[in-house]
Amino acid sequence: MKAECKKIGLKEAGALLLAPEHRRIALAVHTAPDGDCLGSALGLGAFLQSRGKTVFLLADDLIGAAYSFLPGIENFLRLEDYGQLEVDLLCVLDAGSLERIGKAATVKAKCYLNIDHHGQNSYFADRLYQDTKAAATGEILWELFDACGWDIDRDIATCLYTAIVTDCGFFRYGNTTPKTMRAAAALLGCGIDPAYISDSLEMKTPDSVRLLAKVLAGLSFAAEGRIAYISVPHELYDPEAQTDSFINYPRYIFGVEAAAYFKAVGPRTTRVSLRSRDLDVAAVAVGFGGGGHLRAAGCTIEEPLEQAQKKMLAALEAALKKK
Ligand code: 5GP
Ligand code: MN
Repeated sequence: MKAECKKIGLKEAGALLLAPEHRRIALAVHTAPDGDCLGSALGLGAFLQSRGKTVFLLADDLIGAAYSFLPGIENFLRLEDYGQLEVDLLCVLDAGSLERIGKAATVKAKCYLNIDHHGQNSYFADRLYQDTKAAATGEILWELFDACGWDIDRDIATCLYTAIVTDCGFFRYGNTTPKTMRAAAALLGCGIDPAYISDSLEMKTPDSVRLLAKVLAGLSFAAEGRIAYISVPHELYDPEAQTDSFINYPRYIFGVEAAAYFKAVGPRTTRVSLRSRDLDVAAVAVGFGGGGHLRAAGCTIEEPLEQAQKKMLAALEAALKKK
C-alpha cells in the first residue's frame, strides 16, 4: 500500500467531497462504463452540483445507448472535450486503479479520492473508501448519502437505483444482501419508476439484436461442457452495439460452470468478460491484468481473438481442475 493512501469512513469521504477547498471536482468512471459506475457518478455529481461544486463527469469511452435515460448523462466528457484539466479533487468510482479510468487519469488533481467495491486496488488515491461486501458502488453511495444526511431527489435516486440493480442483476446475484434491498427500498421511496429503469436498461438497437443472432450461432464449449463461450470477431465488432448482456447466454446452460465472452475490439486486442457459478473468475482475470468479482470479472488481452481464446480457455480449465 502507498504510504499516503489512507482508508477512510463514509463520513470522512462526505467531508472530503464537501470541503470548501474542493471547488472543482472530477468524477471518473472505468472504461467500458456500465450502469453502476455511470449511475454512481451521475447521482453523486448531481448532489455536489446542488451544493455549488463545479463537477466534471469523465468517461474515457463510448457510453451505451441504453444509458441515455439517465438524468444528466449528456454531461459526461471525454478527454478530447477537455484536453488538459486541473481540479481540486478527483474521485474515482467503481474502479480500483488509475489504469481502469483510461485517459481520464491524465487529469491533474490536488487530491485523489477512490470509492469502490472491487477487491483489487492499486492504492493510488490519497483517500480510499472500499467495501467489497457492497453489491455495487451505487450501494456504497446510497450509504454515503444516508450517513451524511444528504437529500436524495428523484433524479439522484434514479441514478443510484440503476447503479445498484446493474451490479446485482436486479437482486438475483449472490452479492445481494439485506442492505442492497434496504438501499433499493429507500430509493423506491423517493418516487422513482422501477419499470421505466429496467425497461430502459434492456433496450437495444436492431443491429445489436441481429449481432446477437450471429454470435449465438457460434456458441462453443470446452472442458466437457463445463465452459461455454461466445465471440464477436473483429469483422462483426461494432463499438456502438449494446452487447453487455450477451454473456448471459453461455452463462445459464446446464452443466456450465464458467462462461466467457470474447470481443475482438481490435485486430490484436480482445476484451473478455467472465462469469461463473462459484469458480473465482476474478483470480483468472487478474492473471491477465484484469480484475472484478468472484463470479463476474473481465480483462483485455493484447492478442488476436483466437490466441486470446486459447490462452483464456486454458486458464479457465486449469482453474476448474484446481477446484
Ligand atoms: P464486465 O464483464 O461486465 O465488463 O465486468 C465484470 C466485472 O469485472 C466488473 O466488476 C468490472 O468492473 C470488472 N472488470 C471488467 N474488466 C476489467 C478489467 O479489465 N480490469 C479490472 N480490474 N476489472 C475489470
Ligand atoms: Mn460495480
